[in-house]
Amino acid sequence: IPLPADLFPGRRNSAGLDLAEADTLAATVAAVRAAGPVHAVPLTRGVVAGQGRLVVNPARPEETVGSVVEADAALVARAVEAAARAAPGWDATPVEARARMLEAWGDAIEADRDGLLALLVKEAGKTLGDAVADLREAVDFCRYYAVRARLDFAEVALPGPTGEANSLRLAGRGVYAAIAPWNFPLAIFVGQVAAALVAGNAVLAKPAPQTPLVAFRAVQLAHEAGVPADVLHFLPGGGEVGGRIVADARVAGVVFTGSTATARTIARALLADDARPLVPLIAETGGINAMIVDSTALPEQVVADVVTSAFRSAGQRCSALRLLCVQAEVSEGIIAMLKGAMDLLRVGDPADPATDVGPVIDAAAAAKLNAYRERMRGRWLHSLAVPEVGHFVAPTLIGIDAVDALDAEWFGPLLHVCAWRAGELEALVTRLNAKGYGLTMGLHSRIAGVADRVRAAAKVGNLYVNRSMIGAVVGAQPFGGEGLSGTGPKAGGPHYLPRFAVERTVSVDT
Ligand code: GLU
Repeated sequence: IPLPADLFPGRRNSAGLDLAEADTLAATVAAVRAAGPVHAVPLTRGVVAGQGRLVVNPARPEETVGSVVEADAALVARAVEAAARAAPGWDATPVEARARMLEAWGDAIEADRDGLLALLVKEAGKTLGDAVADLREAVDFCRYYAVRARLDFAEVALPGPTGEANSLRLAGRGVYAAIAPWNFPLAIFVGQVAAALVAGNAVLAKPAPQTPLVAFRAVQLAHEAGVPADVLHFLPGGGEVGGRIVADARVAGVVFTGSTATARTIARALLADDARPLVPLIAETGGINAMIVDSTALPEQVVADVVTSAFRSAGQRCSALRLLCVQAEVSEGIIAMLKGAMDLLRVGDPADPATDVGPVIDAAAAAKLNAYRERMRGRWLHSLAVPEVGHFVAPTLIGIDAVDALDAEWFGPLLHVCAWRAGELEALVTRLNAKGYGLTMGLHSRIAGVADRVRAAAKVGNLYVNRSMIGAVVGAQPFGGEGLSGTGPKAGGPHYLPRFAVERTVSVDT
C-alpha cells in the first residue's frame, strides 16, 4: 500500500539507553538510587498552602519519594480563568512556534533523563526497562505531534468551482483538560498535554493521584522549554479535582485515560448543563484483551510473547494480555512451557536491574487483585512467590472453562487461559467481541488465511499478529480502542491532533 507522503513524517527518534552495557546500567542504577525527594505543588496562579501528603514507593512503602500539595477549589477556579484568558493568544501563536516548543520540551525530557527515570521507578514502581520505555515514548509524542501539527494546522485552499476562494484550517478549541493515568505517568501525561497544546489549546493538566511527582517535573520542564505558565496549568489531585475541572463550563474539551467507569462519569458531567457548549471527550480506557493461539503457532515464540504481554509492567497496561485462548490440541504443551517461562521471572524491587516484575501501584490495587486471586485459588495452574513487603501481586496463571467466564478487567499480573476447538475460530472472535471492549488482540498462527479471518472479524483498535501485544510505537502503531475501551482516537497516530481542534472554513466570493 503506498504511503501518503504525510502519514509518516520524518523526525528524530528519542535517544536509546543501552541497559545491556555495564557502565550505562551501573550509572543509571546509581542515579536512580541517589535521586532525592521531589515536592510537587500546583503550577498555576494563586497561593499554594500546606505541607501536602507524602508519596511513597510501592515496592517499599516505608520509603518516601516526595510529597504533593493538591489543588483546592479556589486554585482550580483561578486556573480555568487564567487558561481561558490565555487561550486566544496561544491559538494565535504560529503553529511553527508551538511545534518548536514541543520539540524543546522533548529535548528537555531527554536531558533530564536520570531524574525522571528515578521517579518512574520509585513513584510508579516501574522496572528500569519499563521506565526507559515510558520516557522514550514521552519524547516521541512531543516530536511526532510537532511534525504532525505543522502538517495538520497549515491552512489549505480548497477548490472553488464557482469562482469562490475556499479555505480550511484547524484552530484550538479553547481550554482543554488532560486527565492522565498512573500506569504511563510520563508518556501518557505528556502525550495528552502535548497534543492539546500544539493544537492551540490552553491546558489544565491533572495527573493521577498516585503519580504526581513525575508529572510535576514534566510540567516544570515544559515551562522551562517556553510554554507560557498561563497556557499550561498543573493541577494535582484525585477525583474531586478532576470533577471540578470537567464541571467548569469554560472547559471546551477533555482527554482522559483511565477506567471505563470514570470515562462515563466525565461524559455525564460534560452533558449535565444544558447551557454549556457541546464538549468532546477523547477517552482511552481498559480492555479484556485476548490472544488467540492456533495449532500451527511456534510455541517458543508464543510463550515469549505471552510472558511479555501479560507480565511486563506487572500487567498494568491497558494493552496487556488478560485471556490466552489456545487451540485444545496444543494447549497442554504450551501451558507446560509457559509455567517454565514464568519460573524464570524475578519479582521484586524495580530498582534492581535483575527484576522483571515490580509491584502494583498501591495498597488498594494489591488488595483488590489479591482478593480476586484468592477467590480463584482452585483454578490456579501456576503461581510465583513474591516479596512479603511492598504492594506485590504474584504472577498467576488461572484456568477457565470458556471465554465467557472472564467478564472484568483485572489490571495486574493475572493471566487467564482457556482452550478452543478447531472450527470455532469465528465463534471465538464473536464471543470476544461480545465482551464489548475493543482495545488489543493478539494472534499466533502461521496460516496467513487465519490472520485474514481474525482481522476481518475482530473489533479491536490494535491487532498484533505473531508478536507481543504491548508497546505500541508512536507514529508507527497508533494506539487506542473502541466500544467500552474508548471513544476511538489513536494516540501517536496521524488523525489524533484534529480531535483537539475545531475546523473552520472560509468562503469568499471573488
Ligand atoms: N500504549 C501502551 C502499550 O501499547 C499501553 C497504554 C496504556 O496502558 O494505556 O503498551
